[in-house]
Amino acid sequence: MNILVINCGSSSLKFQLIDSETEKWIAKGLCERIGIDGSMITYTPAGGEKEKKVIPMPDHTEAIRLVLETLTNEKTGVVKDLSEIGAVGHRIVHGGEKFAASTIIDDEVMKAIEECNDLAPLHNPANLIGIHACQKLMDGTPMVAVFDTAFHQTMPAKAYMYGIPYEYYEKYKIRRYGFHGTSHSYVSKRAAEVLGEKYEDLKIIVCHLGNGASVSAVKNGKCVDTSMGLTPLEGLIMGTRSGDIDPAVIEFLAHKENMTVEEVLNVLNKKSGVYGLSGNISSDFRDVEQAQAEGNEKADLAMQAFHYRVAKYIGAYVAAMNGVDAICFTAGVGENGSMNRKVICEYLGYLGIALDEEANNKRGEDMVISTKDSKVKVLSIPTNEELAIARETNALVNK
Ligand code: AMP
Repeated sequence: MNILVINCGSSSLKFQLIDSETEKWIAKGLCERIGIDGSMITYTPAGGEKEKKVIPMPDHTEAIRLVLETLTNEKTGVVKDLSEIGAVGHRIVHGGEKFAASTIIDDEVMKAIEECNDLAPLHNPANLIGIHACQKLMDGTPMVAVFDTAFHQTMPAKAYMYGIPYEYYEKYKIRRYGFHGTSHSYVSKRAAEVLGEKYEDLKIIVCHLGNGASVSAVKNGKCVDTSMGLTPLEGLIMGTRSGDIDPAVIEFLAHKENMTVEEVLNVLNKKSGVYGLSGNISSDFRDVEQAQAEGNEKADLAMQAFHYRVAKYIGAYVAAMNGVDAICFTAGVGENGSMNRKVICEYLGYLGIALDEEANNKRGEDMVISTKDSKVKVLSIPTNEELAIARETNALVNK
């Protein structure tokens, strides 16, 4: 069955058509600047040329219509008509406490997703618009919601509760939710397969290090802790996000710089991380690494702080699980940045970790990068959130 995977942002829409039998993508693309002047679609059919077209997309319905038209286009399309698309899997950012697993979308589910809008005001409304648009144009095609937060719903209360008055949890559901769940789940399962061990027998730490970055502790197949919180701002130092800070910094900065709370949060979300720490060199880790190599001191500090924070979280999660069998690196920096993996692992000698330098210098495949006698296995595993969404969708639709 062909499954269309949709990841809808406020002004963008990523899509991938995946054959659930071969698990290969048939076509993929991106609509950008939806509702803004100069909107464009990028489209690549498997084995074909990538094409880019500037074309008006006043709203998400129009973007989805264009995606479907492109997929069924006589010349460059990959399916004859929409009946060849068996189901749609939608990535939904926040499922709150309502969703601990993916689910078939119906009116009740739509309502429940809408009730989580408060928790992800930038993302969930866009995700809902994407579902509405698909329902309008693909009437009768089963749709599945796959939540970024669902995998982390197994965390115990001691890990997800903040040390603030309990009534705020009761009133507003303020707690740690965690994100990148589809990636943490996919990568931890894949690690068990690569190691030839039972998923349920392992203690795994997954470091999803991309522009957004998070770490999770997966014990016996269940997430027991993760670094992102109520929102994706908490935890590691990221491309532009600060990660953990003393919350008092917000009031302090607001007074000193005469900013509103919203403005300070904008700084913490968009102007911080390695971008801010490096003195605004770039939010792209490759640029910051390059500047570090050229001797830029702030870039060096930004990279050091990034690595140090990851190593600290790993240490915390070893304590949380009373041990660790495997540490996995994934996402842009985790999959490709061999230097980053090396520096982070240098902090972990106390765990008996030894990296295999040659394996660590490869990229793009699932692999063990620690030596044979390393006490803890270290792996590099390219994440594939789209495939994970297609698998979940397929499983639910064919239940
Ligand atoms: P993602 O958010 O997973 O797409 O990851 C994007 C980030 O991965 C960007 O900041 C890239 O600079 C970073 N990245 C990609 N390739 C490399 C590499 N070879 N070394 C270090 N960082 C990389």
